[in-house]
Amino acid sequence: MNCTKCKTKAVIKLPRHHAAFCKSCFTGFVHDQVARAIKSEAMFGKDDRIVVAVSGGKDSLALWDVLLKLGYKADGFYVNLGIGGYSERSYRMVQRFAEMVAVPAGAVLHTHTVEQEEGAGIKELAQLVHRPTCSTCGTIKRYQFNRAAVEQDYDVMATGHNLDDEAARLLGNVLHWQEGYLEKQGPTLPASVDGFAKKVKPLYRLSERELAAYCVLNKIEYIVDECPMAQGARTLLYKEVLNRLETESPGTKQYFYWGFLETRRKQRSSSVAMTEKDQAMLHPCSTCGQPTTAEICSYCKLMARAKREVPG
Ligand code: SF4
Ligand code: ZN
Repeated sequence: MNCTKCKTKAVIKLPRHHAAFCKSCFTGFVHDQVARAIKSEAMFGKDDRIVVAVSGGKDSLALWDVLLKLGYKADGFYVNLGIGGYSERSYRMVQRFAEMVAVPAGAVLHTHTVEQEEGAGIKELAQLVHRPTCSTCGTIKRYQFNRAAVEQDYDVMATGHNLDDEAARLLGNVLHWQEGYLEKQGPTLPASVDGFAKKVKPLYRLSERELAAYCVLNKIEYIVDECPMAQGARTLLYKEVLNRLETESPGTKQYFYWGFLETRRKQRSSSVAMTEKDQAMLHPCSTCGQPTTAEICSYCKLMARAKREVPG
């Protein structure tokens, strides 16, 4: 098997693109896919300051690497959840990447430690507020990530969601006709109001397998194991189903997700309408000032409840 581009020996085959690539052409292919995503979805420009949510996994570290290689100003933001060995290992991966690649390229790694800032690890906090760990984690990560982006004047925050994540999410939303979620699902979510940062997903054109290959070929070490709290049986099932379809019919995932984006693009110029709708509903949280649809935002409610539950 030879590389479709340069005809030397190929190291990876990409059936959905009817192509095979050597290490160097594959790296170029990944960079191109990210560059196309950034351009076609108007994510950001070379002068914008970007903050990347890094978890230590393959997707977020690959994203940080590609953005730096493409010449963007991208810093990292890591939330240490305090989940024993998992958090220690994932933090080690993030620190290693920062030391070896990001800092030498002029980037900065910000770290938020839940045990220090919120007073307890994520599992304990969830128990205190009687909520599932992942929903507590989601509230804290969303809040702290947005706060860091806004307070430190980043223009945009980027996450490592890939094609498999987005196709599985779309399948779930379609199967349950979650119209509200369908309306908001996409690679670019504009900064709807002051206090809410713009959010983008520059890896939506790349699959999980391609991102793992990118890390291995470019010697980026990442944490392979999932967070032990991951309950996403449903998402994993959707991913399995889509992988079966992909094996039988290469390109299914991209036709499904990119087709959804294309159809929606034709149907609306409604990011404007969405922004207006959001603006009408949002106002500053009476405790912390971040935008919310309620009197007090869900993060402040969660922290108030956690404090009430702490003895003494
Ligand atoms: Fe947070 Fe749950 Fe994801 Fe773990 S699996 S990082 S607890 S949302
Ligand atoms: Zn608040």
